[in-house]
Amino acid sequence: MLQKVKIIGAGLAGSEAALQLANQGFSVQLYEMRPHQSTVAHTGDKIAQLVCSNSFKGLGKTTAHGLLKNELELLGSFLLSIAQKARVPAGESLTVDRDLFSDLVEKKITSTQNITLHREEVVDFSENIPTLVAAGPLASEALSQSIFKSLGSEKLHFFDAIAPVVEADSIDFNHAYYKNRWERGETADFINCPLDKDTYEKIIDKLVEADSVEPKPFEKNELFEGCLPIEEMARRGRETLRYGPMRPVGLYDPEGKRWHAVVQLRAENAQKTLFNMVGFQTRLKWGTQKEVFSMIPALKNAQFVRLGCMHRNTFIESPKLLDPSLQLKRDIQTQSKLPPLWFAGQITGAEGYTEAIATGWYAAWNMANMLKHGKNNLLPHPSCIRSLVDHLVAPNPDFQPMNFNFGLVPNLEGFKKKEKKERQAQLAEESVLEWIRESKIHQ
Ligand SMILES: Cc1cc2nc3c(=O)[nH]c(=O)nc-3n(C[C@H](O)[C@H](O)[C@H](O)COP(=O)(O)OP(=O)(O)OC[C@H]3O[C@@H](n4cnc5c(N)ncnc54)[C@H](O)[C@@H]3O)c2cc1C
Repeated sequence: MLQKVKIIGAGLAGSEAALQLANQGFSVQLYEMRPHQSTVAHTGDKIAQLVCSNSFKGLGKTTAHGLLKNELELLGSFLLSIAQKARVPAGESLTVDRDLFSDLVEKKITSTQNITLHREEVVDFSENIPTLVAAGPLASEALSQSIFKSLGSEKLHFFDAIAPVVEADSIDFNHAYYKNRWERGETADFINCPLDKDTYEKIIDKLVEADSVEPKPFEKNELFEGCLPIEEMARRGRETLRYGPMRPVGLYDPEGKRWHAVVQLRAENAQKTLFNMVGFQTRLKWGTQKEVFSMIPALKNAQFVRLGCMHRNTFIESPKLLDPSLQLKRDIQTQSKLPPLWFAGQITGAEGYTEAIATGWYAAWNMANMLKHGKNNLLPHPSCIRSLVDHLVAPNPDFQPMNFNFGLVPNLEGFKKKEKKERQAQLAEESVLEWIRESKIHQ
């Protein structure tokens, strides 16, 4: 008899994982709560639904998302090959007819012998079956509460206020300097982007008049006073930001000059290739964000790997909870009396459609290995998927969801930007090809 595994959520991560686990000879019990129980963003009953844009982003091999897709293709991702079949013309990006995509995924799932699709909400972990949680950013309330209770109160976030993240080597250090406020701490960790009065006032004018993304009805009551969007702060008073995230005190520049306001950037990753704008959560439209931030002299030509946004987003504190195979750490599992659990998709903090498929593939392969052989055979560094997973599980007290981007791949010194990306791409691909050969995964 085939070993049973359970998957919660037939979204992007859950559907990819179901097909991979069925292909590996497991009896997959795939649970999808819609249409009986819906979410605020999904419509109807289609599985693997793209809730917002219909694009899986770029295909070019030296773009971050192109590289991630290339890796998924090498590794035999089912959903990526279905996306190719549902493709609509959109230049260099993989953009799909979303209904056709969902229909093809459902057809593949329902015609795969080892998969049973249950249209039912999973509310807890009472069944003692190895389980993959892929319930997404809008996981049902009952399941969220169950995770919340099992893993502890502070370990499940419900609202996501994301500050923009910028590539370190696109910051203009003619207009920026390293310093901690009042020079506290042993190393200067913050990058400071100073503003004179005129520039500050122009930014405030722009923020006050700027268009924001309308909050969805379910989000309206969830804005906390502690994490107001910058445009809301600017509307409350022209000086509010100077007393908040743009406070200049204790941040004199190396010549001792006191600036009117200072935007601080803090490292987003251990390699310090990415920096986030401290306290700059915002609902501004993306085009407006770029316009406003380019008014900051140090960020005039900055490359943003993530822009700010605020929406409900259920994600666990992966750095504390998951091991590098995306399995719930064994000691926490035992303590909490849970079945063996793996997590994939946005609920791990891997933001984006392609990232959901990638972590679905990854968790399923690790689950299969662990259940069959009692050990992991992890995809190596510096592959893109492993780099993304490293971001999810590396210690990080300010953990936030993240798209895959070049800043997550191990840094290389001594290259110009373009050559660095090409070399990083080459090393990532080579590591995957070697792992495929050694693991004999296509035989
Ligand atoms: C409003 C919104 C818009 C987004 N827009 C984009 C975008 O344009 N581009 C992009 O790249 N990323 C976007 N994202 C980010 C995110 O990566 C996608 O939502 C992605 O679909 C996540 O994939 P997933 O498989 O983790 O979850 P989902 O694709 O959401 O799949 C989870 C599935 O689990 C089901 N489910 C939930 N709870 C239960 C339960 N208890 N029992 C059974 N089934 C359950 C849900 O019905 C759903 O079908 C958006 C996120 C949100 C919240």
